[in-house]
Amino acid sequence: MSRPNIVILGGGYGGMVTSKRLEKFLKAGEAKVTLINKHDYHYLTTQLHKIGAATAADRQIALSIPEIINPEKTNFIKAEVAAVDANKQEVHLVGGEKVPYDYLVIALGFEVATFGIPGIKENAFEIRSFRSSKAIYHHILKQFNLYKQDQDPSRLTFVVAGGGFTGIEMVGELVDAMPKLCKEHGVPFEQVKLVAVEAAPSVIPFFPKESIEYTTQFFEKHNVRLITSKKILECTPEEIRLENGENIPTRTVVWSCGVKGNTIIEKFGLPVEKGKIPVDPYLRVKNMKNIFSIGDNALFMKNEKSALPPTAQVALQQAPVCAKNIVAAIRDEALTTFEYHHKGSVASLGTRAAVGLVGSVRLSGLIGAFMKQVIEARYLFMLGGPALIFKQHFGVSHEPVKITAKQ
Ligand code: FAD
Ligand code: NAD
Repeated sequence: MSRPNIVILGGGYGGMVTSKRLEKFLKAGEAKVTLINKHDYHYLTTQLHKIGAATAADRQIALSIPEIINPEKTNFIKAEVAAVDANKQEVHLVGGEKVPYDYLVIALGFEVATFGIPGIKENAFEIRSFRSSKAIYHHILKQFNLYKQDQDPSRLTFVVAGGGFTGIEMVGELVDAMPKLCKEHGVPFEQVKLVAVEAAPSVIPFFPKESIEYTTQFFEKHNVRLITSKKILECTPEEIRLENGENIPTRTVVWSCGVKGNTIIEKFGLPVEKGKIPVDPYLRVKNMKNIFSIGDNALFMKNEKSALPPTAQVALQQAPVCAKNIVAAIRDEALTTFEYHHKGSVASLGTRAAVGLVGSVRLSGLIGAFMKQVIEARYLFMLGGPALIFKQHFGVSHEPVKITAKQ
């Protein structure tokens, strides 16, 4: 094979780090690398809730891809992937263009799971992409304006559905944002109601008891009404219906009740299990030698029964191994098996508090919030070294992000 074509689908955590590692591992002229993403920016999914509440500038969360990659080593195509033809070794883009590949990396991430609950798809908001998160912020402002006209209290009732990490992070951000937003837009803050609904008996039920208590007290302190052990059964443009028969009038529901793999992979003619692409220990799609899959759209079994969770941490550990294995395959060398090492989890509650578990050490409050910042800075370092950390903290552009692609 003369100068193989490596094509990476998705410029999220998995795709971006695979590209950067290939830039490092490949010798000059050894392969052609193409990265395809539907936007020309890479959004930090782990901080999208900040876009929903406007507690961060656009460019702190959406980083220009052409500025991160080395254009001499990686060819970037801003386009939406429509399908993959594994027999012809081609990627089909929306618009009809076809991109041939010798090695393919599928890193197209997640979609929000709605479990077929009536009205969620149509009426609730998702923290899925920069665009979907920005829509939350615009909707809040719209409700503020309409409240000034009709004083309907449902316009100032904001519901976050799901008390997993995404849900509690969104609530924390709204707690931080609301006083300032209300002041800026002339809306009485004391009329704002924040409501969190969780089907399980507590928020973050999978976390230590003390972290649950800390989060619950944080909610109480900031007047967030927490409803537990109640599933949301329906969402209309004007209310949500809970399984105890209670209806909560609201115009804003942020749905954070779980995720699934990007459903586009169903169009690839590749194996799909539990909505994801099953991969072997080398991160290759089962029974394929030249297609790799990583991150939220990949199913990597950590043992016979359970798969690795959909986290950035997993995608970020898989990406370097994926890049290394592609280079090894090109050079006809032995591949490396992927081993996951869980480093811990930290979830923010606004900018000044967080809950976390790192090893056996429980973190909360300001220390937790500091640790969260360290984790985010570590990722920027991985992507662009100290210069990117500096730029994102001190030199970030205040230009709004131009959203062109859908979702
Ligand atoms: P993504 O990061 O989702 O990237 C997928 C990319 O593919 C995107 O750029 C998307 O635009 C692109 N794409 C999708 N479809 C197409 C298409 N058809 N054509 C072209 N491009 C396409 N995990 C943690 O470990 N720690 C955290 O603190 C954490 N916080 C989170 C906070 C929030 C609010 C959310 C929602 C998730 C959080 N997660 C966290 C989970 C983490 O964000 C995901 O596991 C991670 O983003 C997965 O990375 P990925 O590369 O697989 O996919
Ligand atoms: P999740 O599946 O972890 O939590 C969803 C929550 O919604 C669950 O507690 C569930 O009981 C609840 N729920 C489901 N259906 C419901 C209903 N009908 N009504 C009310 N509640 C309902 O999903 P997530 O929080 O979006 O997280 C997705 C992935 O992203 C996870 O792997 C998570 O670890 C990761 N993540 C990590 C962080 C972090 O580390 N800081 C932050 C966000 C997300």
